[in-house]
Amino acid sequence: MNSQHHRWQLDRWCSEHTLQRSQSLFDSSERFLRIGPFGSVRVADAVASRIVKEHGLEAKLESIRKEKTIAYHLFIKLEMMTNKEVTRLKRVFQDEHQWKCEILSQEGYPVVEVQPISTVQMYQRYLESSSVVGAVSPQDGAYEVSKFWSTKNETLLFRWREMEVFFEMPLDWSIERTHSDLFQLAHHLMVEPWDKSAMEHWHPTRKAGWRPGLAFSGGVDSAAALCLMPSDTVLLYNERSGLPGQLDHTNALRFFEEFEHRTGRAVHRIKSNHEQIRTVEGKSLGFSTDYACAVQVVLLADYFSLDSVGTGMPLENSYLFHGHQYRDFAESWFWKHYSPMFESVGLPLYQPVAGCSEIINMKIVKQCGWEGWAQSCLRSTHGGEVCGQCWKCFRKNSMLGLPFTLSNEITTFLNKVPIKQAASTLYSIQKSGISRKGEDIRKKFPSILPLLETDFSFLESFHPGATDIIPEKYRTYTKTRLNLFCSRMSRSELEAIRNINLYSEK
Ligand SMILES: [Zn+2]
Repeated sequence: MNSQHHRWQLDRWCSEHTLQRSQSLFDSSERFLRIGPFGSVRVADAVASRIVKEHGLEAKLESIRKEKTIAYHLFIKLEMMTNKEVTRLKRVFQDEHQWKCEILSQEGYPVVEVQPISTVQMYQRYLESSSVVGAVSPQDGAYEVSKFWSTKNETLLFRWREMEVFFEMPLDWSIERTHSDLFQLAHHLMVEPWDKSAMEHWHPTRKAGWRPGLAFSGGVDSAAALCLMPSDTVLLYNERSGLPGQLDHTNALRFFEEFEHRTGRAVHRIKSNHEQIRTVEGKSLGFSTDYACAVQVVLLADYFSLDSVGTGMPLENSYLFHGHQYRDFAESWFWKHYSPMFESVGLPLYQPVAGCSEIINMKIVKQCGWEGWAQSCLRSTHGGEVCGQCWKCFRKNSMLGLPFTLSNEITTFLNKVPIKQAASTLYSIQKSGISRKGEDIRKKFPSILPLLETDFSFLESFHPGATDIIPEKYRTYTKTRLNLFCSRMSRSELEAIRNINLYSEK
């Protein structure tokens, strides 16, 4: 077998049963390390005392007869340790002490014999390879990075028309060690609706890295995406900075802290004000394009050696165009426009929740233990609380069948035609529709009554087409994860979603 495969790539060769088992291993809070075999009790005992002395861990000795000899193993029970800590400990035993070591979900001998190997050499080879950051000599007509981008201390600056925006990059990031394709793509994503000139000379040559990156907002959809992606995924947060508005980072930062505490994985916060670019065109603050939320992931793709870009785009934006009209996402103009662009710089789009409604995403987040941590409300200034007034809060509460506040903002939204994210909003109104003060949405907004006739129960299952467009390397992994939380849409549910066109001219 080629030793260059990642663990989750092996998933393609396993049965579904084995996959579920292997994933439950990473989800459980109790794990065991099996060290050995050792040829004699004396050696095993010496190793055990060394482990007690150096790591304060008790090891249990067990023997097993193998043909004519007896093999001795040590078992160490690990509690309250993150995947990262367990893996680090395994590396110490394996690479520093040359003891064979394996992580198990239960004490005992596994059915399958494995040969744990060290990945240190693989990693070294990777560091020495220069394939990721290619030194590109500018050709005639090539994209000129310095014309639009510059650095001031650790701050990256992008200039477009009369606007200059910043990105606070990591201290050891450098413009020289970042492929020009990434600047070109980032540039395009920030100004595409008004200026397509960045792509006039597009001859991408960047090579893929080795792990995915996720544009992580701390909201429910991107937290669900996180739960469906491998644990090597690099999480990048666009920290809107230096701009006015109601947006507050309190809840997001509270979630990141807890996430880091529980999993040992960092969320990298990159401060930027690039959301003001649209104001040049008289628009309000926000992302210029659907992938402008991932600009930091693109800019840091070489720094973190990324091989794909993930976002938390849910079904309501993929298969349900504007949330109220079905489209075959894989065949849509949108997908055909963006996916080759990202693919050509070694960053294929990785949309783990494109087939999942927000209803499913909430369920995933809950099952993974992040309920109350992942918050889509961006307004609350109090950690662990939501504002209760905004559209996001309204949708979340009504979906969960909880009482909601019918604020002025919500009234305005419900009077709009079409209603924002109509399908799932109507689904949630069907679930309850009664406010905290007892106001009935059906009575207050009679114009939506005909729309409430539609059956939206397909929102409780995932669209299978979405897993087919996940980068092949991660497809089986994400599919297996997804199957833990929900089922795929049945034939009749697929039929139902295909017929969704809520505001067609009748
Ligand atoms: Zn809110």
